[in-house]
Amino acid sequence: MYRIIIILVLLLILFFMVRKAFREFWGKGKSDPALPSKDMMVQDPVCKTYITAGTAVMEKIGGQPYYFCSDDCAGKFKEYLSR
Ligand SMILES: [Zn+2]
Repeated sequence: MYRIIIILVLLLILFFMVRKAFREFWGKGKSDPALPSKDMMVQDPVCKTYITAGTAVMEKIGGQPYYFCSDDCAGKFKEYLSR
């Protein structure tokens, strides 16, 4: 009986791994959503200004990229998060 459960768990893990691999494979054709192209418009979460990703100040906070118009806004955002 335990053997069946172990096999089922292994199949489930395999299924998730295959699904993840497929997603990464199909994602290669498109641009990476985590890294927008340089001329893509991004919004500064502090002052709500739109800037292009190429000129924005990028900060990775908790694995998520955030874009700011200046170091000043990036600093304010980090200060806000640490509060
Ligand atoms: Zn700003």
